[in-house]
Amino acid sequence: MKLPYYQLIRSKRKTLSLQINRSGELLVRAPQQLSVKKIEAFIREKSAWIEKKTQTLRENAQPKPTYLNGEVFLYLGNYYPLIREQAPKNKLEFEGKVFKLSSADNGSTEFHRWYKASFKKIALPRLDYYADLHQLNYQKVRLKSQKTLWGSCSSANNINLNYLLIGAPISVIDYVIVHELAHIKHKNHSKVFWQLVAFILPEYKTEKQWLKDHGHKLHNL
Ligand SMILES: [Zn+2]
Repeated sequence: MKLPYYQLIRSKRKTLSLQINRSGELLVRAPQQLSVKKIEAFIREKSAWIEKKTQTLRENAQPKPTYLNGEVFLYLGNYYPLIREQAPKNKLEFEGKVFKLSSADNGSTEFHRWYKASFKKIALPRLDYYADLHQLNYQKVRLKSQKTLWGSCSSANNINLNYLLIGAPISVIDYVIVHELAHIKHKNHSKVFWQLVAFILPEYKTEKQWLKDHGHKLHNL
């Protein structure tokens, strides 16, 4: 792990503490005499926590959409503008370059419905494709829109996938699919697990990184 930039504040305290302030900076409070080596080892140890905190901060900083004319929405990794229309029926259509929405309320429901349907149509066949190709047979698949999870695979080999992923590039969707399918063989994140993922998708690290960097944008519905 690359050590994040941090601000060191030494005082008379006895223990180390980490804090991420509103601007996303990492503040490290440490006793006067503690060596930098020990301080940085502590930061490394807490890297998962730091990552999670920073992520939450980024998400909260994200303004909620208003579903007004001209606002852009992600679909398969690209942004497309929204046009609002007056129609008797609530519906959302995608016409290759724009989203056309008619809705009695803000439009969130229509977007969720459309994203879910698109995920079914586009992503689920890929789940079956990779499952068949590599003999990774799942039991059931469920689509959800979780805040914190892109996918999961239970001990009974039931797979959950987050349909908000339809906003991501198809290669990223493939990565999440393959990740969950690989859990059918390995119920952990061991070396052999990642070897299997890499065997199926040699470039998976790029997609994994995309999710880290841009994943929070997919929750913007
Ligand atoms: Zn996993």
